[in-house]
Amino acid sequence: MKKIKNFIGGEWCEPISGRYLDNVNSALGEVYSQLPDSDELDAAAAVTAASEAFEAWSKTTLEQRAILLQKMADILDRRREEFALAESIDNGKPISLSLQGDIPRAASNLRFYAGGAMHFASESHAMPNFGVNYTLRKPVGPVLSISPWNLPLHIFTWKIAPALAAGNTVVAKPSEITPMTAYLFGEICQEAGLPAGVLNIIHGLGAKAAMPVAKDPRIKAVTFTGGTATGRILAQEIAPTFKKMSLELGGKNANIIFDDCDLDQAVETTLLTSFSNQGQICLCGSRLLIQQGIYPKFKQKLLEAIQKLPVGNPMDPATRVGAIVSKSHFEKILSYIQIAKDEGGKILSGGEKLSPHGECANGYFIKPTVIEGLDNMARCNQEEIFRSVVTLQSFATKEEAISLANGTPYGLAASIWTQDLKQAHVVADALDSGIIWVNCWMIRDLRTPFGGMKQSGVGREGGWESMRFFTEPKNICIKY
Ligand code: NAD
Repeated sequence: MKKIKNFIGGEWCEPISGRYLDNVNSALGEVYSQLPDSDELDAAAAVTAASEAFEAWSKTTLEQRAILLQKMADILDRRREEFALAESIDNGKPISLSLQGDIPRAASNLRFYAGGAMHFASESHAMPNFGVNYTLRKPVGPVLSISPWNLPLHIFTWKIAPALAAGNTVVAKPSEITPMTAYLFGEICQEAGLPAGVLNIIHGLGAKAAMPVAKDPRIKAVTFTGGTATGRILAQEIAPTFKKMSLELGGKNANIIFDDCDLDQAVETTLLTSFSNQGQICLCGSRLLIQQGIYPKFKQKLLEAIQKLPVGNPMDPATRVGAIVSKSHFEKILSYIQIAKDEGGKILSGGEKLSPHGECANGYFIKPTVIEGLDNMARCNQEEIFRSVVTLQSFATKEEAISLANGTPYGLAASIWTQDLKQAHVVADALDSGIIWVNCWMIRDLRTPFGGMKQSGVGREGGWESMRFFTEPKNICIKY
């Protein structure tokens, strides 16, 4: 059985304790590899490696950083199929998605911030008849990146690429549920010639492997993507140290579908917003708010489309909905479906475990689920399930739609479906949401600010937002 190792100071390292955790192929329901159960000793070794590498890396030229990031992107492109296969086995996501989405996007992240390294600039502010200010932006130091399981390599690279581009060294802790592609990424660092210690990858449980790194005074910033509850713990623990912190957290996103929308396009995209990656994308819409006039027709078309959605073995190129990432997540989703029933919800589609024929019979599959009849305050409309479960609610006016959409503790993403330009602008302006799409979804320009309001996060990533986060501004004022 394959044993994943930590990548520290350019070397492959066993966990110091010698302890390992099981890694499960969720489509088969079987352990297929092991990963280090790293603890504070491995964490300290990784921080030491990142600290020792910092000075030299922070002094590399912008071009040197850009060339290395570009090289890593090229190697990843070359190994796309191998990485896509590893991602789908590890996560349960359809192979078509890994091949066309996750892995190419990870390469794009590296390439985008190769450009970022070269083009990022700092500000200057002239004071008439007095002088000028200029702002230096220095790398902050060794930083920690903590990433989740839903888009494993995609989010891992989304964080490490700007950190490296800005001249920082990194300790990265990928999710213990999907460690494989981050592990393989160590090979890419070696082949590209990234100096030892510039990127260190340690595996294991968050509290045991990542938290000691977060608290280490040598770590100057923490970038985290994951659940709101974990973000809260992390924020509580590291707030007293005053180190920089970026938190990208959960969501309960609304799709607002008006009577005047292009119905076919809205239904087709709603299938993606609801069930892509088994609904395990932080940007997925999980609350479908539909205007009264179109509600019956939209519902009928959506349910018909779901019947045709190929669900099953992630390795089948035709599959569009694969396996839920883990047994515990699978059980959590089923428990929420039961809660919805207890709260008076009517299951229109799915609502139960699916057992595909053949080798995936013991895997963790749930039929795409649609529930109606729940109040906006019902738990399934308030709490993040992060799954193939969506709820339908109807509304009469745009004011009601805005109130429903804003009526949760979250504020990550939303989509609006209407042909009325004024309505689109008015509603977008009123939504408490960091990311809003009109008549589309998941279209990403990497230069735009990415992140959420309220309990969906603190700070923004993307474009210069990430470069600013990973640099410390220092203003110098000069009198003429
Ligand atoms: P999670 O919070 O359970 O874990 C995320 C990471 O944090 C993992 O690497 C984990 O090991 C680590 N971790 C766990 N406990 C920790 C602790 N005490 N100290 C330090 N690290 C700890 O989240 P998950 O289940 O892996 O991911 C799903 C969540 O991520 C969902 O809530 C989803 O909405 C969110 N998410 C948000 C975005 C975004 O951009 N806002 C993107 C993707 C996923």
